[in-house]
Amino acid sequence: MSDHQTVVHDVLVIGAGGAGLRAAIEAASGGVKVGVVCKSLLGKAHTVMAEGGMAAAMANVDDRDSWRVHFADTMRGGQYLNNWRMAELHAKEAPARVQELEKWGALFDRTKDGRILQRNFGGHRYPRLAHVGDRTGLEMIRTLQDHGIHEGLDVHMEYTVVTLLHDGERIAGALAYDRERGRFRVFRAKAVVLATGGIGRAYSISSNSWEYTGDGHALAYLAGAALQDMEFVQFHPTGMIWPPSVRGILVTEGVRGEGGVLRNRDGKRFMFDNIPDNYKSQTADNEEEGWRYTQGDKDARRPPELLTRDHVARMIVREVKEGRGSPHGGVFLDISWIKDRLPNAAEHIKKKLPSMYHQFKQLANIDITKEPMEIGPTTHYVMGGIRVDGDTQMSTVPGLFACGECAAGLHGANRLGGNSLSDLLVFGKRAGEHAAEFARSHGDVALDEGEIDAGVRYALAPFERGGGAEGAYQVQDALQSTMQDLVGIVRAQHEMEEALVEIETLKQRAERVGVPGNREYNPGWHTALDLRHLLIVSEAIARSALERKESRGGHFRDDYPEKDPAFATFNHVVRRGANGAMELVREPIPPLPAELAAIIEEMK
Ligand SMILES: Cc1cc2nc3c(=O)[nH]c(=O)nc-3n(C[C@H](O)[C@H](O)[C@H](O)COP(=O)(O)OP(=O)(O)OC[C@H]3O[C@@H](n4cnc5c(N)ncnc54)[C@H](O)[C@@H]3O)c2cc1C
Repeated sequence: MSDHQTVVHDVLVIGAGGAGLRAAIEAASGGVKVGVVCKSLLGKAHTVMAEGGMAAAMANVDDRDSWRVHFADTMRGGQYLNNWRMAELHAKEAPARVQELEKWGALFDRTKDGRILQRNFGGHRYPRLAHVGDRTGLEMIRTLQDHGIHEGLDVHMEYTVVTLLHDGERIAGALAYDRERGRFRVFRAKAVVLATGGIGRAYSISSNSWEYTGDGHALAYLAGAALQDMEFVQFHPTGMIWPPSVRGILVTEGVRGEGGVLRNRDGKRFMFDNIPDNYKSQTADNEEEGWRYTQGDKDARRPPELLTRDHVARMIVREVKEGRGSPHGGVFLDISWIKDRLPNAAEHIKKKLPSMYHQFKQLANIDITKEPMEIGPTTHYVMGGIRVDGDTQMSTVPGLFACGECAAGLHGANRLGGNSLSDLLVFGKRAGEHAAEFARSHGDVALDEGEIDAGVRYALAPFERGGGAEGAYQVQDALQSTMQDLVGIVRAQHEMEEALVEIETLKQRAERVGVPGNREYNPGWHTALDLRHLLIVSEAIARSALERKESRGGHFRDDYPEKDPAFATFNHVVRRGANGAMELVREPIPPLPAELAAIIEEMK
């Protein structure tokens, strides 16, 4: 029997980002004993990096906004593959969740009359993002963390979960190791909430933190849950590209929301060249109108720079491919031009976009109040994830819940900026509430020592193979290049087939990876254990993308560049088959209720 400590909770939340903390707070307020486990320190989850804001139709800046418009925007952005129930709940509940955060101490930027200020963002018809300058995630995490501690959460920091545990069909807890000392800890729990974030580290150019290795997706998959719509990966149009040491770091959409424009090498605003039909009526057709929109003119339509991220990213790729890119393979994003319009432009930019100002000054020696930024697309977000029930957030495995970026449904084929932070609050709360309810209404679980021993043996195996074997970093690097080059922004059948062959080879290499040294403070070991997760999500992305023979949202195929209505009726779902191989099926999308269909029609 393995040597480990066992800790018992009613509800175990894996992840301490916005979704995990909100879930944990709700579960704790439901009167059950809650534990939170996270890979990094409390307060350091990826959510802390969020910049632009959280979307909620509070109508503080434009009184034409409502949950109905937010719902229609989210569905249009997701190209109607969204779980419509989640889109409805999100649009209806986000305002209350933001106001609750304020009640718990979050200090948002203010309108002149003292209400929460809201800013413009891509794909949102009205200014909708509650924000704190461009450091909204920090305020969110700080507030949830403070509130959570007062709710009595038991937090286990710097523990990585390597496997979920079962009692028959039901989830029974998790096995984790301590990243500092390498000791194992078993968590026994009646319900488990996965809130582990995304998968961006499967690609070589990414805005995502080191934590984004797809752990929750893979743990759920291995535990028998289904993953949905994994082909939909969001490539944010504006990441830094120069110097190489900063490649992929995000440049917030808030820059474009404040009036920033995209230009090619010749100084042309190329976004006016191609406005998709379903956005034409809402998009400015001249520069003057676009500028007025960013300054709050309610009669103006948004500039094409604020079209959805998938479209803007592809337009940038087109400029570069056709030889009109910037010197380092991107295009220019310029906010400095607003000095022609505003008397105190430099101060205004520094006040509205403080992090961007410092980021470019310190990392690229560029003063964004005076000169344009050079930017290009970066892997940013995964719309695909664990398939959950829209109301309860329970996965297809009893007692296993998921929320936040690791869960699928709300965003369909493409997420609108700002809809993630509100997703974390709305569905974090729901997951916590229903996990607590599950724990209260179901009896205790028993742990299977054999399952725990197998998990420990798996985790320690890289040491048995030793430092003479191939290292984890080489395999990780090869996988990231494969995904970047063959399953990236623009995809084609032969490339994805090649990627799947390569992933099979990499799986075998990963099984032979060896780690020198011992369990204490050993990042090579951590990377070796990440590989299984990265390979599972990469395979799920490539398989789902290969099957989707059309272009929609974040998924663009060179060989099928058009949208095909036949693909609008189902979600792709992958599961682990009886023989251990990945199986993919089509799950029909339930018909939209008449009331919601009417809203979409009305807002077209
Ligand atoms: C630079 C940047 C800016 C962004 N700006 C915005 C924005 O302005 N508005 C918006 O809506 N969205 C934004 N996003 C997206 C948004 O920040 C994320 O989608 C969101 O924060 C994800 O939150 P989460 O709670 O799901 O996961 P996270 O905040 O990533 O938390 C995941 C948690 O899971 C833990 N974890 C992971 N694996 C394990 C494991 N195996 N064992 C134990 N613990 C584990 C981690 O340690 C962490 O605590 C931005 C993203 C980036 C990269």
